[in-house]
Amino acid sequence: MRKSVYKLIVLVMISCLLLCSCSVTINEQSPPQKDSNTLSVHYLDVGQGDSIFVELPGGSSMLIDAGVSRLGESITSYISSLGYDKIDYLIATHPHADHIGSMAYIVDNMDIGEIYMPKVSTNTKTFESLLESISSKGLKIKTASAGVNIIDDEQIVADIVAPVKIDDDELNNCSAVIKIKFKNTSFLFTGDAEKEELEDITADISADVLKVGHHGSRTSTGKKFLAMVNPEIAVISLGKDNDYGHPHKNTIKCLNKINAEIYRTDKDGTIIVTSDGQEISVQTGGISMVRGE
Ligand SMILES: [Zn+2]
Repeated sequence: MRKSVYKLIVLVMISCLLLCSCSVTINEQSPPQKDSNTLSVHYLDVGQGDSIFVELPGGSSMLIDAGVSRLGESITSYISSLGYDKIDYLIATHPHADHIGSMAYIVDNMDIGEIYMPKVSTNTKTFESLLESISSKGLKIKTASAGVNIIDDEQIVADIVAPVKIDDDELNNCSAVIKIKFKNTSFLFTGDAEKEELEDITADISADVLKVGHHGSRTSTGKKFLAMVNPEIAVISLGKDNDYGHPHKNTIKCLNKINAEIYRTDKDGTIIVTSDGQEISVQTGGISMVRGE
């Protein structure tokens, strides 16, 4: 008698599992490992440069910057390994080679939704080849400037909060600065914006997680700006033994002063920060786009 009850339970469980797996396979569009109720931000270790892949709740994705050149293959295969074949929102914070170096490759090799860039140009080959890739795919560039809303739904809001004004002579200070808010948690991405640009921001830029501006340079992170953001977690994207002395010791000192937990791609590899809308967790030691390990 007991045995048959067990058998019945096992049968019911197996049928449940089969039913569940059926509903998973029907929804072929959603990435296989994606938990649609979380936001995961991957600060890719691209050496000296920035590239941040964002898995948005609901299954869409965003890429902010694409590191230096020759990393296109490793960045796209990292993104593909997470189960994505499309970047819904592609953002070039500013047209310096350590941010858009591999972006033409990514545009050529992945499906792209919307592209945002600040309204500045430069005459480098890297920038020109990015523009060529964009136009040959028939994509249109949307202007990244303060007040532009990228996503606004019940769960998630992504806004561009800077540049407030354009300074053609200083590309860093044209950096698109993005704030993503997911329920009670928020993330700020600053590109290479310097103090001048950051302290001009009028929007609410308080955030739990800050991507520290300009690879931790002294000229980006000031006390006034940190007071505006008040982050618990600070992530610096930079190369090992870089030629610029990044991160500057004053930046580290300022971040320590506000008791921010500091993570660095040169020491921690790719850093994954995940939010369920209330709590935030950090995972370090992810694969490096530069060293491939
Ligand atoms: Zn940079």
